[in-house]
Amino acid sequence: LQPPTHNFENDYAELDRRYAFHPFTALADHEKNGPAFVLSHGEGSTLTDTQGRRYIDALAGLWCVNIGYGRAEMGEAMAEQARTLSYAHAFSSMAADKPAMLSARLINMAPVPMSKVFFGNSGSDANDTQVKLAWLYNNALGRVHKKKIIARQRGYHGVTLMTAGMTGLPGLHAGFDLPLPMIRHTTAPRRLWEGHGLSDAEFAASLAADLEALIEAEGADTIAAMIMEPLMGAGGVIAPPEGYYAAIQPILRRHDILLIADEVICGFGRLGQNFGSSVFGMEPDLITIAKGLTSAYFPLSACLVSDKVWQVLAGPAHAKFGAFGHGYTYSSHPIGAAAALANLDIIEREGLVAMAGDTGAYMQAKLRAAFGDHPLVGEVRGQALIAAVEFVKDKAAPLAFDPGLKVAPRVIAAARARGVIGRALPNADTVAFSPPFVISREEIDTVVAAFRDAVDEVM
Ligand code: PLP
Repeated sequence: LQPPTHNFENDYAELDRRYAFHPFTALADHEKNGPAFVLSHGEGSTLTDTQGRRYIDALAGLWCVNIGYGRAEMGEAMAEQARTLSYAHAFSSMAADKPAMLSARLINMAPVPMSKVFFGNSGSDANDTQVKLAWLYNNALGRVHKKKIIARQRGYHGVTLMTAGMTGLPGLHAGFDLPLPMIRHTTAPRRLWEGHGLSDAEFAASLAADLEALIEAEGADTIAAMIMEPLMGAGGVIAPPEGYYAAIQPILRRHDILLIADEVICGFGRLGQNFGSSVFGMEPDLITIAKGLTSAYFPLSACLVSDKVWQVLAGPAHAKFGAFGHGYTYSSHPIGAAAALANLDIIEREGLVAMAGDTGAYMQAKLRAAFGDHPLVGEVRGQALIAAVEFVKDKAAPLAFDPGLKVAPRVIAAARARGVIGRALPNADTVAFSPPFVISREEIDTVVAAFRDAVDEVM
């Protein structure tokens, strides 16, 4: 194999087209056409490409750059940490100052009482860890058949072998021999489709009945845990109907099924409160956080573990299996911890969680005004600073869905030509909005106007 000999100097698009293997990308198209743009700068909610074109980022990267781009304070905190202690692992009782401080801060912030924090590198690996914790917990208690994980159709939990399977989107399974056999999916709490024509109370009851039927069919003694995003993000920005968690949680408790709250998108303010669990009254045994923990200035995730689980891990699990046999080279990375601490300082000092709530209310109203009556928009939905617009063939009969109607990707391309970056969601004809918390109302106006024009252009 010859090493690349071309010298394209500053032709980054050509370098990328030839040599880069992109995630979640149509590979042949990319190899043929190259990237849509090559970014080089970011500040606040605005990104700039190598041609000097500017874009408002209406998705905050991938729902993660919550404090906005280009914060010097973040760069300084990470540089200072790199100068003083660039790395320390956490195996075999080794500790470092910043990860210890961050652990305590996260336990203090947790939406329900939690005992311990285990750090990882991404939402995917943290959710994978949660499954291992649920298995270890049950194995330690001698419940060796309690292994299956219930997730929900349209839920998104990552891309590892386990978490891609838990993700309830067919595009993540096809061709990868997934899901693994111990995963089951229950009904998505999606009003436009699964809940069409039902009241909130009826829909919550029918979803609870579906879950109960699944547990009974499988046998509660075979099920370890259920994983849920408080509000689903990548599967379509789906908030559950009123009363949903109140109906679901007693069923899980009755069958001794652990509840994992995947707060990777909701955590740290996206819904106008620190955690989605607080917004919806969830009482999880395990909580997964990532993205907003560092606003994506450093890859860092964590599992928050309740005392109920911790007592089993530290007691019977240790007695049976010895020292905890799991962890990453980069678990408890001190630069990640420094980034998270600086990020949490900024969020607190600038009141960004309340700001996400206020600006979010403005964004929801603007989107509903722009798209609510559109004949081909089935639903404008969301809460606080996360929203989606779903396209349908016929608003009056949204269930007459034409899966060939792929409006969203064309809308995204047309919006990008107008200087706004958004995202079309997989396996749904939906565009999502999840901007940085610092986005201004004028920028929201620009985003909504650009999308409205984009929809008019392509439909
Ligand atoms: N869980 C949720 C709710 C997510 O939205 C994501 C990513 O979008 C993940 C898990 C996976 O996180 P990562 O991409 O960091 O592995």
